[in-house]
Amino acid sequence: MRKIALHIVFLFNFGSDKTTKRTVIMTKVHNFSAGPGILPPEVLKEASEACINFDNMNLSLLEISHRSKNYEKVMEEARALTAELLMLNENYKVLFLGGGASMQFAMVPYNLLRSNGTAGYVKTGVWASKAAKEAELIGNVKILASSEDKNYSYIPKQYPVSNELDYLHITSNNTIYGTQLRRWPIARCPIVCDMSSDIFSRKVDGKMFGLIYAGAQKNMGPAGATMVAVDERLLGKTERKMLSMMDYRVHIKSDSMFNTPPVFPIYVSLLTMRWLKKNGGVEWIEKINNDKANVLYNEIERNSMFTAVCEKEDRSNMNVCFVMHKAELEPEFDKLWKAANISGIRGHRDVGGYRASLYNALPMESVNVLIDVMAEFEKKFA
Ligand SMILES: *Cc1c(COP(=O)(O)O)cnc(C)c1O
Repeated sequence: MRKIALHIVFLFNFGSDKTTKRTVIMTKVHNFSAGPGILPPEVLKEASEACINFDNMNLSLLEISHRSKNYEKVMEEARALTAELLMLNENYKVLFLGGGASMQFAMVPYNLLRSNGTAGYVKTGVWASKAAKEAELIGNVKILASSEDKNYSYIPKQYPVSNELDYLHITSNNTIYGTQLRRWPIARCPIVCDMSSDIFSRKVDGKMFGLIYAGAQKNMGPAGATMVAVDERLLGKTERKMLSMMDYRVHIKSDSMFNTPPVFPIYVSLLTMRWLKKNGGVEWIEKINNDKANVLYNEIERNSMFTAVCEKEDRSNMNVCFVMHKAELEPEFDKLWKAANISGIRGHRDVGGYRASLYNALPMESVNVLIDVMAEFEKKFA
């Protein structure tokens, strides 16, 4: 048996050697995908190695028990690193669940909204609206503010937040329309934040929030895992009879192992967090993210062919949305960026135009390639 296992490992290694050789001659692709988004190359490499031989077990991470010692360590470290990067304290429990951020649209009200209570929602885009829509199926929802009047191109700021709310739900970064909260709202009630598309991109004191959730696939890891950090003191107040899989307390009690967790996405998220920490943490990446966004927005403003879509003070460092003045020239621009090995900058189908996502793992070099293409396009067609 042992011989067969070793033989298989050898074949796999042989395959991966060939791939490495190919990568060397392959031209680098500049990946601006909005999600699933770019991950650090060293994370991808380590993740692929774990698929063959995880933790020197001579077994794939994909074929071992989630209750093995080796995997329990992964879960523990992923929780601890999340808490560290979000500056949480011992009141908070970190979970990794399946179902995507969309599942949290339902789980948040199911766990926090009392039958005679009200939750406040701020509608700043597609995801925020979907979150509110799910909550409305569970209890009373008040839309406190919305930027729908201007196609979600700004963040509403002055709105009253009643102390009586069970919670206030906000979206820190609006992935589709390209706006981002720069100042957190002030509220006496717990704040729940969907951080799917800017988690770990800037310094955030997580203790400001009652609950933070984030689908992994934008800025944290691959699709399949969703991080939830919740102040445990908020739970157990709804008097609702709860489905086990929908109950945060059940998942907390079993350390995110009530059922089989999404083992591989959690592992890759852990590798990404290790990468972030090793390089200097959130402070380090925040500066780089600011620089990348500044370089691109400056070019959009300078370049006579393009306009940024959102209000300047609210525009996102993660998803940069812009349109072209002469839409009929889009095919020409598309030819240029494709030739430069740029990928993933087509705007969301609901918005059109272009969207360049500048997640943590995207290097400045890629932004420079994009702005060079934009300048070249202007030279040719202005
Ligand atoms: C992508 C996204 C979602 C939806 O995530 P899923 O994991 O696909 O359910 C929710 N909120 C925000 C802000 C997003 O960017």
